[in-house]
Amino acid sequence: MKAVFFQAHGGPEVLEYADIPTPEPGAGEVLVRLKAAALNRLDIWVRQGWPGIRLEYPHIPGADGGGEVAALGEGTESVHRPGEPRSWAVGDRVVINSNLSCGECEYCLGGMDNRCRSWGLLGETRRGTYAQYVAVPARNLYPLPDGFDERPAAAAALVFHTAWHSLITRGGLKAGESVLIIGASGGVNTACIQVAKLAGATVLVVGSNTAKLAQAGMLGADHLIDRSREEDWSKTVYQLTGKQGVDVVVDNVGTTFPLSFRAAARGGRILTVGNTGGAKVEIDNRYIFHKHLALIGSTMGTRSDFNTVMDLVFAGQLNPVLDRDYPLSEAAAAQERLERGEHFGKITLTID
Ligand code: ZN
Repeated sequence: MKAVFFQAHGGPEVLEYADIPTPEPGAGEVLVRLKAAALNRLDIWVRQGWPGIRLEYPHIPGADGGGEVAALGEGTESVHRPGEPRSWAVGDRVVINSNLSCGECEYCLGGMDNRCRSWGLLGETRRGTYAQYVAVPARNLYPLPDGFDERPAAAAALVFHTAWHSLITRGGLKAGESVLIIGASGGVNTACIQVAKLAGATVLVVGSNTAKLAQAGMLGADHLIDRSREEDWSKTVYQLTGKQGVDVVVDNVGTTFPLSFRAAARGGRILTVGNTGGAKVEIDNRYIFHKHLALIGSTMGTRSDFNTVMDLVFAGQLNPVLDRDYPLSEAAAAQERLERGEHFGKITLTID
C-alpha cells in the first residue's frame, strides 16, 4: 500500500511517501481502506518526538480517518462483545475512534476507557491513518451513515470527541452558563465553540488574530476579545459578565492559567486538555481556594462520548470546519501549513 511514514524524528522533510506492506488485521481487528484522514497538532509533536517516546518504525502518523471495512480479523465477523455496537462486514463505511483501550481493565469496564491502564492513541502508539489501509480494533469503528462523506467525519472525530468529553462529560456545562475559550483557531477550541453553543451557553473567545476571531464569531461565539489590544483580558471578561466572571474557562494554553483564574466566577471550572503554551506554569493558589475553583483535566474521550458526538455531527448539529485538502502524497505540505498556523479548521488528506 501507499503510505506516508518516517524513520527518524525531525521536520516535515523526514516524511516519506512510498509503498510499504499492507497491515494484516489481527484477532479482534478490522482492516480499513481509508478514503480520508485529518491532521492534528499531535501528528507534528509525534514527528518531532519527545523524551521517552518509542515508536515502531517506519511510523505512520494520523489519528483521524474514515473509509470502509476491507477485511476482518479473527473473531470480528460474528462475535458481539458486551458494549460493542455491532459486528462488521466488508464494505461497511466507518469512521475511526483513535482512542485505543484494552476493554478489560476496571476503567474500560466502568465506561471510562480513555483512562484505560494501557491507553494508547492511533498514530502515536500504533501506526495511523496517513495510509491506504490501517488495522484497528473492531471496537474503534463507528458506522458512517449513507451520504455522509469520509472527509468531514475524519475532520470531526478527534476534536469534537475531545471537546465533548471536556465540556460536557467532565465540565458538566449547562444551558445558561458562560464559557470563555482561550484561543480562536485550534481544532479543539473551534469545536468547543460549537459544543458550548449547542449546550445553550454564552461563549466568549480570546484570540490575537482578527481574521480568526471573526471566524470564531461566525461559528457562534457571542463575545470576541482581541488580546493584542486587551492584554489583561480577564478585566474585559469581568466587564462583559457584569463583574461575575465566567462559569467555565477552556484553557488549553496553560501559560494563561493566571488570567484564566482571574476571569473565572466563584465556583468556576477551568478545563484543560492540552498545553500549547508550554507544560510548566506558576499558579497562585489563593485564586483556587478563595474563588472555589475546580481545575479539571482530561485527555480525549470515552467511547460513549464518541458515539454521542458523532451522531450530532451526522445530524448536522455540530459541523467540522474544513480547511484545505491535500492528496496523501502531499502530507508534508499539509503538515507545513498546520505548523505555520495558516489554517482555520481541519486540514485533511484525500486517499485514493
Ligand atoms: Zn482498559
